[in-house]
Amino acid sequence: MKNLSILGSTGSIGVNALKVVRANPQRYRVRALSAGKNIDLLRNQIKIFKPKAVAVLNESLAMDLKRTLTGGDLPEILFGPDGFKHLATMDEVDTIISAITGAAGLIPTYEGIKAGKEIALANKETLVMAGPLVLREAEKQGVSSLPIDSEHSAILQSLQGHQKEDLKRIILTASGGPFRNLTLKQMARVNAAQALKHPNWEMGPKITIDSATMMNKGLEVIEAKWLFDVPIEEIDVLVHPQSIVHSMVEYKDGSIISQMGVPDMMIPIAYALSYPRHIKTGLPPLALEKVGPLNFEKPDLKRFKCLALALRAASAGGSMPAVLNGANEIAVDAFLKEKIGFLDIPKLIEQTMEAHKTHPINRIDSVMDADRWAREKTHANLMAYRA
Ligand code: NDP
Repeated sequence: MKNLSILGSTGSIGVNALKVVRANPQRYRVRALSAGKNIDLLRNQIKIFKPKAVAVLNESLAMDLKRTLTGGDLPEILFGPDGFKHLATMDEVDTIISAITGAAGLIPTYEGIKAGKEIALANKETLVMAGPLVLREAEKQGVSSLPIDSEHSAILQSLQGHQKEDLKRIILTASGGPFRNLTLKQMARVNAAQALKHPNWEMGPKITIDSATMMNKGLEVIEAKWLFDVPIEEIDVLVHPQSIVHSMVEYKDGSIISQMGVPDMMIPIAYALSYPRHIKTGLPPLALEKVGPLNFEKPDLKRFKCLALALRAASAGGSMPAVLNGANEIAVDAFLKEKIGFLDIPKLIEQTMEAHKTHPINRIDSVMDADRWAREKTHANLMAYRA
């Protein structure tokens, strides 16, 4: 029986993680849950999963939750950074599911690793911003950090039973998002509602916009570099609109091993929790005969400039990926609030990156400083830009 703390339980990954728990009650027990603002959903989750502790974004939400929870066995209700840290370090917890969105997920994940907890990692920003520091700490504590991202789960599965030195390259697949076939002129006119309609995956709003710009794939390249200890030059991206092949590994003899499945996050979540076993999810099987042709094409870095920027940040290393990520979070938020157009997202990020002097990162504090700097800079550029 694994005892879980699900950070971000009210999000898309969190809800799917709870479905995996429900499908395998003899394997997993929920000890802690966290929400940002959605206390209605958290309240329902508390009633069903009876965690020992929960945390929400701030004190007033914690008070609201406390006021409206009834019945016995009420959980401890915490809030803010200290609350999330507590959930990540509780004695009763073995595994953290790190599924808070954005840079906010970094510190609780890092604290969980420092406390020796196993990590099932959805929050890719943790590795994008602070890959070397996080992995060094995980090694020091002897804890595993297993990916939930479907692409990285596919790579992990494709590496099983093979020798790392035989690996030639990793091929990350990308759906290409809803604007895969649009011209730049057409992209200039798309709005948030259109960008939020992902063709294959149901995800939270931030990652859905990142999929539409293909920034998501760029963040995943950086994530793969750290997770699998592979240079950027040995990681390629292929657009695969059907999202059936979740990624591939090519070996020196020319063999390519891939993992396929229905596009449902329950599969990689279950694998991260049960590694190296494959447990039941209750999902319908993939009927390949009904899928039809599988296509693969090179991404267009001119139309999907965010991917090019992420590759540039990956090559620069040091503080630059954290700056890319912070700038992207501000730009995506502005796009979702309809303050800027779709093509302004890469423009804003590039402006911030160009103003940044890359420096090495040796401590988590310096990562957070780079993140703060990038947010302030992008915000200032955004204001100037709209004036
Ligand atoms: P969602 O937006 O659906 O959920 C995010 C979760 O984080 C919610 O529980 C939300 O709370 C909480 N949250 C948001 N901001 C804060 C904050 N400042 N402090 C504390 N909690 C906060 O996102 P997803 O589930 O889609 O994604 C989560 C992470 O997983 C991201 O890093 C994403 O890149 C990664 N990921 C997601 C995939 C997917 O299929 N969805 C696939 C692969 C990776 P509330 O809603 O209550 O406000």
